Amino acid sequence: MNSVDTIVAIATPPGKGGIGIVRISGPDSELIATRIIGQETKPRIATYCKFLAQDHPTIDEGIVLFFRAPASFTGEDVVEFQGHGGPVVLDLLLKQVLSYGARMARPGEFSERAFLNDKIDLTQAEAIADLIEAGSEHAARAAQKSLQGAFSSVIHNLVDQLTQLRMYVEAAIDFPEEEIDFLADEKLIDDLNKVMVSIKEVERVTEQGILLREGMTVVLTGQPNVGKSSLLNKLSGQDAAIVTDVPGTTRDILSREINLKGLPLHIVDTAGLRNSDDVVEKEGIRRARSEIEKADRILLVVDTSKGIDAEDHVLLESFPKHIPVTVVHNKIDLTANKPQIIQVSELTSVYLSASQDIGINLLQDHLQQSMGFSGITEGSFVARRRHLEALQRARHYIEAGHNNLQVHRAGELLAEDLRQAQMALSEITGEFTPDDLLGKIFSSFCIGK
Ligand code: GDP
Repeated sequence: MNSVDTIVAIATPPGKGGIGIVRISGPDSELIATRIIGQETKPRIATYCKFLAQDHPTIDEGIVLFFRAPASFTGEDVVEFQGHGGPVVLDLLLKQVLSYGARMARPGEFSERAFLNDKIDLTQAEAIADLIEAGSEHAARAAQKSLQGAFSSVIHNLVDQLTQLRMYVEAAIDFPEEEIDFLADEKLIDDLNKVMVSIKEVERVTEQGILLREGMTVVLTGQPNVGKSSLLNKLSGQDAAIVTDVPGTTRDILSREINLKGLPLHIVDTAGLRNSDDVVEKEGIRRARSEIEKADRILLVVDTSKGIDAEDHVLLESFPKHIPVTVVHNKIDLTANKPQIIQVSELTSVYLSASQDIGINLLQDHLQQSMGFSGITEGSFVARRRHLEALQRARHYIEAGHNNLQVHRAGELLAEDLRQAQMALSEITGEFTPDDLLGKIFSSFCIGK
C-alpha cells in the first residue's frame, strides 16, 4: 500500500440531520483523533467525548470510533467522529482535522483505498456505489448480493475454467517432447466451446444486472393523435404530457421515470412522427429519431379504430433493426377488439385502450418480461456496461483462439488469445485493471464513500 497521507471527508449527506459523521483514514488518524478529543482513543470502543478546536473551545460533542489497521473499511487506521448533523458544525470539525495535516478525500477515495488494500474487489467497490444509489428495492437487494461477492465469484469461476485451459495449452507448447497432440484434441475444442457458453450465460445475467441498475429505456412513438401522451400518462400515473386532439401537439421530447413493479423504466415520448413543414415540429421529429437510436425497446402506438396504415408500416420499417418493437394497438374501446397480447416471431402486439384504462396491465407485464424479469430471480446482481464489455471481449478472444486452433492449427496464437481473454475477465474484478480506468470508476463515487 503506497498511500501515505491521511484523508478526511464528511461522510453524511449535506444538509441538516440528527447525526453527522466526519471520517478519517490513513496513518495520522489516531494522532489527529487524540488531538481532537484531548485523550487517547481505544480501538473499537465507542467513546463519548468533546470535539475540541486547537485552543480548546468545544466544537461539538459526540462519539468517536477508532478502527485500527487492517481491521477497518479501508484497511488503514480509520476514525469516525459522530457529532451533530449541522453543516456549520461539521465544517468546523472538518477544518480542524485538515489543520492537523489531513487532506480532503477525493470522491470515492475511501472505497478506492479499500480496493487497493484488498479489502474488497472492484465489483464490490462498485456495488457499494450501486447500493447507495439504488433506485428500487430489487436494485438494492441485487447490489447487496454483488457486495457480498456473488458477481465476483461468477467471474472467478470463468477465470478458473480459462486457467485450466491455459495450463493445458501452455504445457503442450512448452513440452513438445511429451507429444501431446493438442491441436487435434477434440476435448480442447469441446472445452473452448464450454467456456464460451458459460461466458454467454454470464453476459445474459449481466445484461439483466445492467437493466436493474440503469433501467430500460422505452421510446413511445407513432403518428400524431394515436394516443401516445395518453398512454404515457397512464403508465406513469401522472398528467404531465399534454393530451389534446390537435395532431402534432407533442413537439418536444418528454421523458418520464417510472417504477415498474420495482424496476426503473425511462419512457420517452416523442413528437408525432409525420412529415411536416413546421420548423419546430421538424426539430421535434429529428430529436425523436435520435432518441429511438438509443432505446432498448420501441413502442409503436397505432390507432386500432383506423387500422394500421401505410404510414405505420413506413415507420416500422424505419426503426433500427436491432431494437425490439412492440406495437401498441390503442383505442380498442372504439373497436370490437379485446385486450390481449399477440406474439408473432419477434413482433409483439398489445391491444389496449389508454384513455379507458383497458389492458394497461398487459403492457406493464410485457415490459417487465422484456426486461428479463418475470419475478426477480434470486441469483441476480447489479452490473455495469464495463462488465458486459469485458465479458464480450473475453468471448471474442476465445472465439479467435478457437479459430486459430481449428483453421490455422496455431497453438501459440491460441495460448495468447486465452491469455488476453483471462486479462479481460480479470479487469472486471480489478486484478488487471489499468490505472486510468480505476480513476474513472472511483471518481464517479460521491465524497466520503
Ligand atoms: P398523441 O398525439 O399520440 O400523444 O395522442 P393523445 O394522447 O394526445 O391523444 C389524442 C386523442 O385521442 C385525445 O383526444 C385522446 O383523448 C384520444 N385517445 C387516446 N387514447 C384513447 C383511447 O384509448 N380511446 C379513445 N376513444 N380515445 C383515446
